[in-house]
Amino acid sequence: MNSPIDTGAGLLVNGRTYRRPDRPVVVICLDGSEPGYIERAIEAGLAPNLDRVMKQGTNTTALSVVPTFTNPNNLSIVTGRPPAVHGISGNFFYDRESGAEVMMNDAKFLRVPTIFAEFQKAGMKVAVVTAKDKLRTLLGKGLDFSSGTAIAFSSEKADQATLAENGIENVLDFVGLPLPEVYSADLSEFAFAAGVKLLNSFRPDLMYLSTTDYVQHKAEPGSKAANDFYAMFDSYIGQLDALGCTLVVTADHGMNDKHRSDGQPDVIYLQEAMDAALGAGATRVILPITDPYVAHHGSLGSFATVYVDPDKVQAVIDAAKAIDGITVAITADEACARFELPADRIGDVVILADRHKVLGTIAARHDFSGLTEPLRSHGGLTEQRVPLIANRPAEIPADRVLRNFDAFDVALNLVA
Ligand SMILES: [Zn+2]
Repeated sequence: MNSPIDTGAGLLVNGRTYRRPDRPVVVICLDGSEPGYIERAIEAGLAPNLDRVMKQGTNTTALSVVPTFTNPNNLSIVTGRPPAVHGISGNFFYDRESGAEVMMNDAKFLRVPTIFAEFQKAGMKVAVVTAKDKLRTLLGKGLDFSSGTAIAFSSEKADQATLAENGIENVLDFVGLPLPEVYSADLSEFAFAAGVKLLNSFRPDLMYLSTTDYVQHKAEPGSKAANDFYAMFDSYIGQLDALGCTLVVTADHGMNDKHRSDGQPDVIYLQEAMDAALGAGATRVILPITDPYVAHHGSLGSFATVYVDPDKVQAVIDAAKAIDGITVAITADEACARFELPADRIGDVVILADRHKVLGTIAARHDFSGLTEPLRSHGGLTEQRVPLIANRPAEIPADRVLRNFDAFDVALNLVA
């Protein structure tokens, strides 16, 4: 347990120096919050706190990490670095040596410490609340729950939290809400409510709240379900702001309609296309969006990676480029350079679809039975722009291209 280096100006974490906060810092990752959701809710008169905060503080946008998926972006935000550094490039990669598709939910796949772990070692109090439990083990990596200075739990498994594993117990009583359903807006509300309670009583120096995009996958900006969600969010923004903190809100990715006019998902079945072009068995298409919680996206996003022998890379690129709706088909080297990805955890070709299309493997492998609304999803370049909002003015250089993983830099170093 080496303490992080204190440069005098602050703590050095993964190559960036962060000032020690003199008031609590709260960063919220609002899953799937495409620009427009907040604005439509404000226009409808449902988000007065966000309206005030955005006028008095900072209201800008930032670019998320490609693939525009949940885990790569959450891990980027909490480490301050892109996937090339932290190693989490999606939910799945293909291990060439074992010939197995490997899920990257386990904390062992995270290659660098989080900002929380390093701040805790330097004597500060940290708290992490996630909606889904899949993120909690990754985000909580390196925290010491024995000292009373770290808390990390999920809404999904709030009833199972223990002092040894989470730094807190009896979470349902503490938050004052029942255990939420995993597929619900309540899962996110529980995280916000917990955040308010923690800020009030535990008073962390750093806190991170990460929600689920259940609502955003179903409902477009300005719709009733979306406005209801943002009105609920707004009430917690008001409470957090009133408790005295630096508050930064960003998102892991945006969200777009990915369906045809008949309401069916607009899918390019990439494994079928590759089998037709190169022969069955020549390629393996991996969709890194695939996870245990598929109901709301059917494992369909706008990013795919293809594993293939070196002599057939160009044939894969040529075949992909010939398909209407594919906007990017590049080699792994190009993708790693352009999107800052870890070379050992993506395939040989990276493929992205356009705004309203998603990439599948073969039709029979995708289950649409959980899709109760026309598909909305993410993963591509068209979901890269996300909000970046702070409750205080931040001095952001005019020529700086902000990333969502600058959230803690903005909160700790740039906010007044
Ligand atoms: Zn997400």
